[in-house]
Amino acid sequence: MPQKNFPVNPILYAIPVFMLTVALEAFWAWRRHGNRIVDVGGRTRPIYQFADAMSSLQIGVLSRIAAAFPRLLTVGIYVLVYQQFAVTSWDKSNPLAWLLALLLYDFFYYWKHRANHEVRIMWAGHVTHHNSEYFNLSTALRQSSTTFVFDWMFYLPMAVLGVPPEMWIAAGLIDLLYQYWTHTELIGRLGWFDRVFVSPSNHRVHHGQNDYCIDCNYGGILILWDRLFGTFEDERPEPIVYGVRTPLASVDPLWGNLHYYALIWRDFRAARGIDAKLDAIFAPPSGWRDEKLGHFEPLEFQRYEIKIGKRLARYVTAQYAITVVCLCVFLYRFPHWTVTQSMLAGLWIVIGLTALAAMMAGRRWGAPLEIARWAAAIAVAWALVG
Ligand SMILES: [Zn+2]
Ligand SMILES: [Zn+2]
Repeated sequence: MPQKNFPVNPILYAIPVFMLTVALEAFWAWRRHGNRIVDVGGRTRPIYQFADAMSSLQIGVLSRIAAAFPRLLTVGIYVLVYQQFAVTSWDKSNPLAWLLALLLYDFFYYWKHRANHEVRIMWAGHVTHHNSEYFNLSTALRQSSTTFVFDWMFYLPMAVLGVPPEMWIAAGLIDLLYQYWTHTELIGRLGWFDRVFVSPSNHRVHHGQNDYCIDCNYGGILILWDRLFGTFEDERPEPIVYGVRTPLASVDPLWGNLHYYALIWRDFRAARGIDAKLDAIFAPPSGWRDEKLGHFEPLEFQRYEIKIGKRLARYVTAQYAITVVCLCVFLYRFPHWTVTQSMLAGLWIVIGLTALAAMMAGRRWGAPLEIARWAAAIAVAWALVG
């Protein structure tokens, strides 16, 4: 059934801004710093790496397609809880009410984000945002396609407190968009701001795998929550190594979303006894089987790197631009399409992302898959026009 009354996804309007600012940051990184930044041991490393940034951008596209489907359900559940259990009604004409809704959202975001890091099955979803070994605006767009399974539950207290659905959706959008600019190495420390708000400095720490960076700085807009609940870490002079302790070592967008689930499945099968099996799913990733997370030696870390030829880079970039246009059409048309139409369109885009990633990784089946998906698209277009 087409959902004609469902509003257009507001992320649609942010997409051109995202693309432009990623391009501007990359340009600035080259122009001002020659794309190099000081790394551990006094060496330098790139700020942007083509395959990594492209993979993050592709994972971003995948996440928007995956998020479009359950959005009807999760918003529906919030509305239902609001209608049935709201203890009071909020005045939507009062600007203070909107501000309070944002504050409440940010508070529950802190706990959701903390759970995302401290419960294995939730980390399996959120790890996608963290498995890049670089830190730039493209990393911000590297969003998980599976965290929707648990995320919505954390905001139901807002429905019970009477926050109208429009306010909840607006607060969620502001919280998400705010965090975008904090993913950069080009903005240094900002003094008092770093201790009150989430900022590039304290969010760099959140994305690090150095010992002091693990499980801290969970805030969305306010870092005050971390200071209040004892999870705040200030950025230190030692260079941060970004990424996760279970490296992804792949540019495939689907594997970028699924690799930790595979690890949980392997651990679950190997675990003996019900306690161990439950731990495989729900224990903290860093305290799995009561083992303390080992010491991380930044000097020994090897970044995942694949070299892409100029011609392939140009082809992948051009195809990505086409994919972004297709994503915009998908998000714009989604409320008017049937579920089957949306799924077919979404599948075609996802196959394209997989093919391009396979070509970057030098897989033999990448180019044939790319040719096949365009042949299918041309055949469908021909049939529709004819
Ligand atoms: Zn996180
Ligand atoms: Zn982040």
